[in-house]
Amino acid sequence: MSGGRRACRTDGVDKNVWVEFTQLAADYKAVNLGQGFPDFSPPKFIQEAFCKAVCGGPLMHQYTRAFGHPPLVKSLAKFFSRIVGHEIDPLEDVLVTVGAYQALFCAFQALVNEGDEVIIVEPFFDCYQPMVKMAGGKAVYVPLRPVSVASGAILSSGDWVLSAEELASKFTPRTKAVVINTPNNPLGKVYKTEELQMIADLCIKHDVLCISDEVYEWLTYDGAKHVKIASLPGMWERTVTVGSAGKTFSATGWKVGWAISSGQIIKRLKAMHQMSVFDCATAAQEAVAQGFEREYEVFGTPESYFQQLPAMLHLKRNRLASCLESVGLQPIMPQGGYFMIADISSVKVDYNGQTPEDEPYDFRFVKWLIKEKGLATIPVSAFYSPEHSKDFDKYIRFCFVKEDSTLDAAEDILRKFNQ
Ligand code: PMP
Ligand code: GLN
Repeated sequence: MSGGRRACRTDGVDKNVWVEFTQLAADYKAVNLGQGFPDFSPPKFIQEAFCKAVCGGPLMHQYTRAFGHPPLVKSLAKFFSRIVGHEIDPLEDVLVTVGAYQALFCAFQALVNEGDEVIIVEPFFDCYQPMVKMAGGKAVYVPLRPVSVASGAILSSGDWVLSAEELASKFTPRTKAVVINTPNNPLGKVYKTEELQMIADLCIKHDVLCISDEVYEWLTYDGAKHVKIASLPGMWERTVTVGSAGKTFSATGWKVGWAISSGQIIKRLKAMHQMSVFDCATAAQEAVAQGFEREYEVFGTPESYFQQLPAMLHLKRNRLASCLESVGLQPIMPQGGYFMIADISSVKVDYNGQTPEDEPYDFRFVKWLIKEKGLATIPVSAFYSPEHSKDFDKYIRFCFVKEDSTLDAAEDILRKFNQ
């Protein structure tokens, strides 16, 4: 029996940081700034849209179109055509998926051949690497590196940059795609147009695809502007843009996501989708469609949730940053998203043999923080390749899309560090 009672592609992809640390946080009833989900309700209009959908007659409870509920693909196409500056065909260019996860999975399965190389910018959302591997591809890494700033100054995620030379050196005849994530999880970097143009130029020069994970696209701060790489000249036909209603409408449990690209590429993703989940929950898609219709009407006004959510998170971000700074955990100020990473080097901990010494330092620290202090966060080395994780094991990630009462509780714990 080849491979025994398993397929070899499952080797080495069993360990998962979310499974491990979400369970640990629950076991210890820790204040949870770990996994990225809001602990407050989605806006009223989208909750009402969901209730209306569920009560909307028999068809709302049955299968809908395999590649996306018609009202949702139409709303997504209408909404994003205006932003990308390209007429998106709702039936050809959009695929609705079970969260952004499944969009990413379909993209790698549909586009990467055995032996293809996929360039991933570090730090990266952890599932990219195993997904590339399961598709038979090889992940090639290029890191964002912090530039030096005046001593004592607060670092911003914008100070972490990609070297054009280093990125260019990673391209080979086997390169199939580059994966970017803006705003980035876990760092919060929002790529500037010039940075995206540099990546786009290389993609075009080497005739390579780009998979752009933009699930936090509405969450930017301090004037940082989210730019879609698909909107740059020559990029629409080679970019798969991935989005998530979970992040867009603060409803991560609905698991509605999408991939948008040229029909030629989406056709391939559709093949993977129809052979795996076939179609997604109808009522949730109907509600998300209503959400986008509403946002289309109020876009650019203070009524838009795409303005209200970042305005609220901006305050939470600033508050968390001040608290971390005051207890000596130097934060990197995120320009976008809902995570903040902080340097833990200044905290001296006696682990007393409680966590295995061969574990990365940040994993040990986070376990100690959950078990001994009752605060859950995520170790940042989980967002790095095995080759580079050692260089980044002095950071942990805090999630700030939380109720003020949750942030109060976290702050109480952190302030006790100083006592
Ligand atoms: N990409 C990034 C960068 C993420 O942080 C997440 C986590 N939500 C996903 C994709 C997956 O999104 P979803 O919950 O819609 O599957
Ligand atoms: N994207 C979320 C985070 O980064 C959740 C990931 C997950 O639960 N798999 O925290």
